[in-house]
Amino acid sequence: MFKKVLIANRSEVALRIIRACQQLQIKTVAVYAQVEAQAPFVQAADEAICIGPDTASSTYLKREAILMAAIITGADAIHPGYGFLAEDALFAEMCAECQLTLIGPSPAMIRLMADKAAAKAYVQQKGVAVIPGAANVTPAQLPAVAAAIGFPLMLKASLGGGGKGMRLIQSAAELQQDYHLIREEARQAFLSDAVYLEKYLPHARHIEVQILVDHAGHIQIFGDRECSLQVNHQKIIEESPASCLTDVARQQLYQATERVLQGLAYCGVGTLEFLYAQGQFYFLEMNTRLQVEHGVTELTTGKDLVVQQIAVAAGATIPTRQLAFQGHAIEVRLNANGAGDLQQFQLPTTVRIETGYQAGMAVLPYYDALLAKLLVWQPTREAAITKLQQALQQVTVRGVQTNLKLLQQLLADPRYQANQVDIHFLKDFHRPD
Ligand code: ADP
Repeated sequence: MFKKVLIANRSEVALRIIRACQQLQIKTVAVYAQVEAQAPFVQAADEAICIGPDTASSTYLKREAILMAAIITGADAIHPGYGFLAEDALFAEMCAECQLTLIGPSPAMIRLMADKAAAKAYVQQKGVAVIPGAANVTPAQLPAVAAAIGFPLMLKASLGGGGKGMRLIQSAAELQQDYHLIREEARQAFLSDAVYLEKYLPHARHIEVQILVDHAGHIQIFGDRECSLQVNHQKIIEESPASCLTDVARQQLYQATERVLQGLAYCGVGTLEFLYAQGQFYFLEMNTRLQVEHGVTELTTGKDLVVQQIAVAAGATIPTRQLAFQGHAIEVRLNANGAGDLQQFQLPTTVRIETGYQAGMAVLPYYDALLAKLLVWQPTREAAITKLQQALQQVTVRGVQTNLKLLQQLLADPRYQANQVDIHFLKDFHRPD
């Protein structure tokens, strides 16, 4: 087992990883932005090193500074969490060059899956359905290829992620007008102007499968999740299991997952994301890291995914199997709408909470909007919704605008309660003031 793990991340996920390390009796090193010197994750780690002033690019994205911190403190592994460098193949290569274990798959696997167009091509060739579309289209071919796919369609940056780098295109004229603009945006945001076209699915659910694979290629399936409720393509409510699935559909989903993973030299946790429409699963992308919503899977399987992720990275083997899951878990993401000072920040004590914040702290403009995750588990989905509604009543945030009201309205909505939602549900949803 590792002796010391450096956490190349911040806030709630850094605390989550520290907790797993403590359970495994591994020492931890936090790296932090100067403006976050007092943050709980910095205090909770055994050691902490400041790596820069404030913005993401001057801190948690600085590969060399993070590696230096790992070397100076004698860490033997790095946990990247999610976001920042978690799916950065170059960082993975640099870790290997420094004889540091990156807790994640190999650079080659990260590179394959980070390019969503390449990942789709790979998966399709394995006989798994992908959303119809086209990559590597020249500007001259564009009108004919787009017409063949049909409008509306999605134009996506191959290296996009986090809900960014995708655009709904309604017509040939709009495509003509926006194509070069979107490529330029992609080049600036993701350092590559590669884009691909994809058929727009008007009624689909976002279903995903959590997996863990060890060095020997043993695959464990940790059940499924549904994450259809999204704002600007970013998830705000996640559930485990995906209760719209019949047993037959679930087995098809797991078979597709196994087909993708067979023969792939993958090791670590990962998530295969699918859109599910008219009884068919279409592979969307694979995330080669721990996900924000891993906690709902932990609640239904009773397993600690972060502990297992670290153990597998250290060489542990796991049995090949599908894990049984029980009951129903729901997570909501309490997000800040903008920066500010948390004058008051009260969260319930009756449910699982993952947060990097406390009253008195500033929500800074440099990082993501996640303030806290609230997670519940109950024997049924109905009971889980009720418990979460009660928990949200105990949330008080002052000094920063949040999405609390939206979450409350969503949970109270009869269509949500009847599980009649899809990925576009929130677009027409009545927004609170
Ligand atoms: P990211 O990597 O940024 O998370 P994804 O490709 O995983 O982007 O898509 C995120 C979300 O965007 C999906 O869950 C879905 O709601 C929406 N989306 C993506 N592709 C399509 C599509 N072809 N049709 C309709 N919605 C889509």
